[in-house]
Amino acid sequence: MIKKIGIVGAGQMGNGIAHVCALSGYDVVLVDVKKEALEKALQTIEKNMGRQVARGTIKDEDKSAAQKRIQTSADIKSFADCDLVIECATENEQVKREILKSICPILKPEAIVATNTSSISITRLAAATDRPAKFVGMHFMNPVPVMELVELIRGLATDEPTYTAVRELAIKLGKRTASAEDFPAFIVNRILLPMINEAIYVLYEGVGNVESIDTAMKLGANHPMGPLELADFIGLDTCLAVMQVLYDGLADSKYRPCPLLVKYVEAGWLGRKAKRGFYDYSKEKPVPTR
Ligand code: NAD
Repeated sequence: MIKKIGIVGAGQMGNGIAHVCALSGYDVVLVDVKKEALEKALQTIEKNMGRQVARGTIKDEDKSAAQKRIQTSADIKSFADCDLVIECATENEQVKREILKSICPILKPEAIVATNTSSISITRLAAATDRPAKFVGMHFMNPVPVMELVELIRGLATDEPTYTAVRELAIKLGKRTASAEDFPAFIVNRILLPMINEAIYVLYEGVGNVESIDTAMKLGANHPMGPLELADFIGLDTCLAVMQVLYDGLADSKYRPCPLLVKYVEAGWLGRKAKRGFYDYSKEKPVPTR
């Protein structure tokens, strides 16, 4: 039975997962290597839950009870009494493997470990743990409090009780699930990221500017956000990492990351979280940077 949930990485996704878990009555411990990330996560949760109160979707007392359930910590030892830990750190296989190796000796033997990776092989990450049967992919969508889907991915060794436990948890969090096989980027990002990468090629080749590309896809394909706006929202480092996993994992040149995407990441223009990407977010209204 899952009662206490640990989350590694308090970035965009970690704070959203903490938010929905705490609102559904789970105790949460959020860990990050950066103290600022933990502080920012609590501020974001405060702001987003406040918005839900204002909209009338939750009561003020639900908000304060949920916030009391969230504990932050810089020390992975805080995971010792967790029933589930969701790894939610930067999309980098080496970083994730090191986190998994370091947390396993601290966890209860029966604890489940999940990863929120957007693209990396669940089977390979499972091999970095001491419990491949209790390891599973639990891919939440951004922003977590709003998006309904959780994509669930079994690794080669994932056992049925583990899969069932995380599926039941997702449903208790008010989400719906879709099952994907363990292939690079699973379903959502296998389809979404090549589209975003193509939009960046369209910009790179001068077929359209940022505004015309996003307007074209919003009005012409009925997408709620343009692909470049969406890339900024996801984080350009994450977009590049997913394209690299697709390119390496499927060995097909159609997945080659656009050089312009590489350049933006090298410049540290990572999108909304860095206040600059395909748009500049320093003013009230985002302004295209090209
Ligand atoms: P982010 O950059 O906002 O946050 C990542 C956090 O991980 C940072 O706060 C960083 O300090 C922390 N971190 C890095 N190394 C760590 C370590 N060793 N121990 C603890 N914390 C560490 O990134 P994000 O957008 O929240 O993405 C996190 C994960 O979720 C990635 O695997 C990403 O692919 C996945 N994901 C992202 C999205 C999206 O739209 N952004 C959607 C679904 C899944």
